[in-house]
Amino acid sequence: MRIAFIGLGNMGAPMATNLVAAGHDLHVFDLSAEAMRALGEAGASVAASAAAAVEGAGVVISMLPAGAHVKGLYLGRDGAPGLLASLDAETLIIDASTIAPEDARVVAAAAAERGLDYLDAPVSGGVGGAKAGTLTFIVGGSEAGFAKARPVLEGMGKNIFHAGAVGAGQVAKICNNMLLGILMSGTAEALALGVENGLDPAVLSEIMRQSSGGNWVLNGYNPWPGVMESAAASRSYQGGFLTNLMAKDLGLAWELALGSRSAVPMGSQARNLFALHAREHGELDFSSILKLYRHDD
Ligand code: NAD
Repeated sequence: MRIAFIGLGNMGAPMATNLVAAGHDLHVFDLSAEAMRALGEAGASVAASAAAAVEGAGVVISMLPAGAHVKGLYLGRDGAPGLLASLDAETLIIDASTIAPEDARVVAAAAAERGLDYLDAPVSGGVGGAKAGTLTFIVGGSEAGFAKARPVLEGMGKNIFHAGAVGAGQVAKICNNMLLGILMSGTAEALALGVENGLDPAVLSEIMRQSSGGNWVLNGYNPWPGVMESAAASRSYQGGFLTNLMAKDLGLAWELALGSRSAVPMGSQARNLFALHAREHGELDFSSILKLYRHDD
């Protein structure tokens, strides 16, 4: 299958690499030449523009930071046409970025006007899951589009969920990440409290992991440097899932809650914590929220 992949960042690069390894004919584009060079070395064809990457593609996958980038790519920006204007009617669009459900619906409606099927397919599992090809895909869109997308998504992920109509994937993902933001800040808070009362962070982590406080963060994403070798905390919070992106997702949760008049007190708390933390550490992994709680850092 000829696939165009746009956005080769912390997530997109390993996802695209796995599609090459699965035998797909991959044509990639990113604004960063450095990111494209690495994919070229992995066996992908490097395109000069997004429009060139999608020529002749049966599937277009995008993995961009936020809704503005996704709308710019497909609908156009600053008078320049978007990709929707040039795609063949048979092309399936899969956007794996985390964006507002409303943004996904706007792009999907514009795609439908051109007879194109659009799926929102945000992912969970982090950079580790992207590298290992074990991501969870949370898909919104038509049954037919979902069926066509499944074999492609299986080249990058393990659990593939159909959440409902277009936008539903984003709603589910935003709920998940609101919970993750709460879990990460709560875990950092508990670890700092224990350490400031004389405990070893590794010992406390293992006790809580095996006890009723156990959670995904303690299992694989420990925020305390040195406790977990594979975690971003142990490489100075480089790479991983940026604080800026977590702050964006918690903002999306807030907007969603306003729209449905839902109460999200814990999510609001987490949004404020990450928004403050992002002022100084937006480009560090989100587990660096621990810095807010440590006296010694
Ligand atoms: P990133 O910032 O590392 O990568 C984004 C990439 O998009 C960059 O390489 C950038 O150059 C490129 N880009 C931006 N605009 C572009 C354009 N117009 N054309 C081509 N390339 C463009 O972000 P990431 O961590 O890979 O995250 C991507 C999306 O996935 C975000 O929506 C994020 O919320 C979501 N997500 C991230 C993680 C994670 O652990 N990092 C996990 C799940 C979901």
